[in-house]
Amino acid sequence: MNALTITQASCADDYDPNSMPVAKARAFIHQFLQPVSGVVRVPIRDALGRVLAEDILSPVNVPAHRNSAMDGWALRGADLKAEGETTLEEIGASFAGRPFNGRVGPGQCVRIMTGGVVPEGADTVVMQERAKANGKAVAFAPGQKTGQNVREAGEDLRAGAVALRRGRIVRPAELGLVASLGIGEVAVHRRLRVAFFSTGDELKGIGATLGEGEIYDSNRYTLHGMLARLGCDVLDMGVVRDEPQLLERAFREAAAQADVVITSGGVSVGEADFVKSMLTQLGEVVFWKIAMKPGRPLAYGRIGGAHFFGLPGNPVSVMVTFYQFVRDALLVLSGADPVAPVPTFSATCTQRLKKAPGRTEFQRGVLTRNASGALEVRPTGEQGSGILKSMSDANCFIILGDATGNVEPGTTVEVQLLEGLV
Ligand code: AMP
Ligand code: MG
Repeated sequence: MNALTITQASCADDYDPNSMPVAKARAFIHQFLQPVSGVVRVPIRDALGRVLAEDILSPVNVPAHRNSAMDGWALRGADLKAEGETTLEEIGASFAGRPFNGRVGPGQCVRIMTGGVVPEGADTVVMQERAKANGKAVAFAPGQKTGQNVREAGEDLRAGAVALRRGRIVRPAELGLVASLGIGEVAVHRRLRVAFFSTGDELKGIGATLGEGEIYDSNRYTLHGMLARLGCDVLDMGVVRDEPQLLERAFREAAAQADVVITSGGVSVGEADFVKSMLTQLGEVVFWKIAMKPGRPLAYGRIGGAHFFGLPGNPVSVMVTFYQFVRDALLVLSGADPVAPVPTFSATCTQRLKKAPGRTEFQRGVLTRNASGALEVRPTGEQGSGILKSMSDANCFIILGDATGNVEPGTTVEVQLLEGLV
């Protein structure tokens, strides 16, 4: 953590905590994030989704040998006639894994398949579609260039070069790349431990009978899903009633066991006051009203050695604030570097959207391509912060910036996909 404490930093910044811009809150949080220490070595398959803790150097040249990018014939570029066909004598074959052991001399060529080692003497491959074989005599069409279709040894990666940098999140491509270097084990950061609980007297667990005014706790399930997808070790601490002693105990217990504590509910006006005074005793926490919708109340700070995110209670607000503030923070804490922002796109909005200027809105949308191939987006319907179905039906957020007012059909808007390909 930086020398500057959270309280000092929040006093030093001149933004109104009751109208905190999204970007400003995000930047504030990022000053205090340092990756957790702790490295484990795992077999490569188990590294999927985890963060590399060390650079991976290539122990070999990739490709290891000069090889052909095409099925065809390997020959000497100097033999190719400037004009007209060139006819050469085929003296052998080089297949992937079964090289030709001789040398290609003047007037000679070798049948070669993709990945086959380019034999000594040869420097060029002509693809078979540009050649005609008649027994051992092979005629090559004019217009070939010396050096074509040959992949040089070490062209992708030189022995000793950095194949993957620490901080990289391992995806299927990285698994394959590491395997292609003959490396079976890698060093990854230990998983981030994240404890979470829901707060609220009205919340009941699945299986309980609901009394009047009671609801099932859904936030713990969305949080579980979002955290598990990020590869965190999750510690689900259940529902904690709105009682100071119980909450205090839960906060202490969570902070003692985890790198990060996440709660939902209890940070909105009215409730915030007693939570605020308790958290100020347990650690250092700032409370904001973010200029956004949904997800206005948000708390961030430290409790003991743990980072704390106090998310709003409304189910959609939990997801939106998680994705806009917590996700990137958890990736940084997990050692990921760089943490790329989730990309956004432009799409034409097909419906009218109600929007008040002065805050950022994250409406839930469905992004599609229209008949002429252009991206179009429409809202999922009712946008209330308690309507979880609006998230479930969505494949994107429609992000409407602070300055934007109502959106008329046909306007270009910014969208952020919820789902990635890999
Ligand atoms: P709060 O921020 O605690 O005032 O909660 C705001 C709204 O979200 C209230 O309607 C709560 O009942 C609802 N809520 C809070 N926590 C949960 C939860 N874990 N699951 C579902 N709804 C919740
Ligand atoms: Mg509550």
